Amino acid sequence: MANVTIDNLIKRYGSVQVMHGVDVDIEDGEFVVLVGPSGCGKSTLLRMLAGLEEISDGTISIGGRVVNDVLPKERDIAMVFQSYALYPHKTVADNIGFPLKMAKRPQAEIDEKVTQAASILDLTKYLKRFPKELSGGQRQRVAMGRAIVRDPQVFLFDEPLSNLDAKLRVTMRVEIKELHQRLGTTIVYVTHDQIEAMTMADKIVVMRDGRVEQIGAPLELYDNPDNTFVAGFIGSPSMNFVHGKVAVRDGAKLFVSDGGLELPLPETAAAEGQAVTYGIRPEHIRIGAGGVPMKVVVVEPTGSETQVFARSGKDLMDALVKERISARSGEELGFLINPSDVHLFDRKTETRI
Ligand code: ADP
Ligand code: MG
Repeated sequence: MANVTIDNLIKRYGSVQVMHGVDVDIEDGEFVVLVGPSGCGKSTLLRMLAGLEEISDGTISIGGRVVNDVLPKERDIAMVFQSYALYPHKTVADNIGFPLKMAKRPQAEIDEKVTQAASILDLTKYLKRFPKELSGGQRQRVAMGRAIVRDPQVFLFDEPLSNLDAKLRVTMRVEIKELHQRLGTTIVYVTHDQIEAMTMADKIVVMRDGRVEQIGAPLELYDNPDNTFVAGFIGSPSMNFVHGKVAVRDGAKLFVSDGGLELPLPETAAAEGQAVTYGIRPEHIRIGAGGVPMKVVVVEPTGSETQVFARSGKDLMDALVKERISARSGEELGFLINPSDVHLFDRKTETRI
């Protein structure tokens, strides 16, 4: 096990810079998830950690040792990719044991470690099978087995669940997290899926365009997003944003959108007239009498909850409520907003006020 320090990391491909000074501290045994939209630099960062991609500037340390110029196989890390890259003509046992065979370890040691990894991953029954005789989830577990036998200081995962169907992703998510709890090894896990990030991470690193937007525990990011990007990316369904400005009526502040929609505001440092973006999560809106009048556009029942999309002029918002709602399109409903649930951002800088 080891801690990992990423310090002012820069990556250029020729004259194009894709990583602009990334700093991340990863503690020993921590499960860190790098999350962000496609193209933000997650894989590049992971590949630099693995030593598969050259570092243009800055440093990476693993266990206190700067590894910038250390070869991948000497970094004591193991990487699991989205494509499992199993050998089709080797059995499960031989696939799992392959890194040890390459390292010319004695057969007895290989057998022992393969047996142990298979038992951890519930693959014991399948050791003699070939990859084509396995389900997607089992193949993914074989790929993880191949990483486990190396007993690395750090596991790197690059979108390992992307090729699995939705139900299996949930199961594998739990399995990987359980695996981490058993092994205690430091994990850096890349995904574009914020639900995966929220459910698996001790610490989430939100990235955009080769920069870190915010780092924090899942619920810290959910409760206190630094800017509209993080606010909109973390949480599902996404936070509602309405553009407008701060007004004052009868001595109290309120929000007025560009289209004239009035919404309640908490005590805020924002001044009268300041251009702001108003954020409220769908699950923080209740529906009832006395709320902000909104015209229903679409109602989406899922059984356990109901998502209601509604409009006021040009402003569209959605509420996610527990109760069943059978309103028709065009009908008026009240959206109840507790001012303490409101997130307010500067409209220009997009940072939290
Ligand atoms: P992510 O994994 O977050 O989807 P990547 O790390 O793959 O993103 O890519 C980050 C950026 O670097 C993208 O803009 C991508 O086009 C660019 N990039 C990645 N690999 C190369 C390469 N070999 N040459 C040039 N640009 C690259
Ligand atoms: Mg990627």
